[in-house]
Amino acid sequence: MASTKTTVGGQILRCRADRSCSLQPGVIELTDETITDIQFGSIPTTVDFGDENTLVTPGLIDTHLHLPQFDSIGALGMPLLDWLSQVIFPAEAKWNDLDYARKMIKRVIEQCVSVGTTGVCAYSTSSYQATIAALEMFSEAGIRGVIGQSLMDRGGPDELTIPTDRLIDEVQSALQLFPSDRRMATAVTPRFALSCTEKTMRSVAHLAKEFRATIQTHLAETRRECHVISDHFDGMEYTEVYETMGLVTERSVFGHGIYLDQTAIGRLRNANAVIAHCPTANSFLGSGVMNRHDHLSRQVRLSLGSDIGAGFERSMVRVGRAMVEAAIAKQFQSDAFDSTGSVDFSCVPKASEAWYQITAGNAEAMGWAEAGRIQIGHPADLVVIHPTIPWRDSGDALSTVMFAWDDRWIRQTILRGVVVDLSPI
Ligand SMILES: [Zn+2]
Repeated sequence: MASTKTTVGGQILRCRADRSCSLQPGVIELTDETITDIQFGSIPTTVDFGDENTLVTPGLIDTHLHLPQFDSIGALGMPLLDWLSQVIFPAEAKWNDLDYARKMIKRVIEQCVSVGTTGVCAYSTSSYQATIAALEMFSEAGIRGVIGQSLMDRGGPDELTIPTDRLIDEVQSALQLFPSDRRMATAVTPRFALSCTEKTMRSVAHLAKEFRATIQTHLAETRRECHVISDHFDGMEYTEVYETMGLVTERSVFGHGIYLDQTAIGRLRNANAVIAHCPTANSFLGSGVMNRHDHLSRQVRLSLGSDIGAGFERSMVRVGRAMVEAAIAKQFQSDAFDSTGSVDFSCVPKASEAWYQITAGNAEAMGWAEAGRIQIGHPADLVVIHPTIPWRDSGDALSTVMFAWDDRWIRQTILRGVVVDLSPI
């Protein structure tokens, strides 16, 4: 079969060694699924997509989201544990009906693609069948990533609680069907330490090691949760619980990580584990503000996630913006702000760093060598953005686009070379 060539022109987002981004005009050539050439310079009018006022970014990556929670966005006014039991568990129980789950997964994929997300590190529900359906459908859509069955064999409602031995068997089956070398793989996903028995946590940690799978779970999102964990595990610190179970590894992604002392930070750093920072979810549930600057200065690896549906922003551009806002808000709590009345902006990421985080930074955190950058030989996952404001005239074009962001500016999302046209009709 003859190969298909597509050309995309515009201001191309380039990642820099200092974990920021810059723009350079040029043309990207795609051959079928792959980026086969990049020519920097003038942009001819003959390109298939884009022009000099177009921003072309790598596909955006969301490293913490819950697929069954997309319809639950906006349940305001409850702290984490109440929100879980009153809003989220009933929503997730609906996925026990596989037809319902499939319809919702289809809508979720459409929403991800419409905001330029081409890579996910996602939670399903505790239903094995729904999780396999999500893996199959995301795989068919061409999305990169991992999806995990949200493991629960204690502490939840009956309709979400699976018997321990069956749960462990299901994790093994999912790992065999969607192993870690696939573009869409399964992740070992104990929901959090209160929702799993020790047997489950230890067993799935072994399986994750055997299959070299991503591990994802939640950690230190609220103070109350930390206290409950400590009470339940004989006074152990939250990270220590996971470490004891074998779940703190270089392939582990811990959602939130707000309330961590230096010992806990040391455990994560020594294992080279990742904290998935979720600023929109943290503000929405009133959980707190993670100290990104402090975590980075202690050499903890960070990624960024929407945490839908506690998080309310599907667009990773908006979550990137929220990361900047959270870093400013954290400064209001500092001694320096108290004494000077000014924010220390050296502790606040620039927009070009936020763009890096939602592309190459998140890919690196996930260990996806072929994602998050526009590079020859990589799968062609791109977002073609046409801002309708004079963005290139501002002093900082990437900051203007991020803070003035409008989802309607996305004209095409390209997944593994397949163009999804989102232009207004
Ligand atoms: Zn979460």
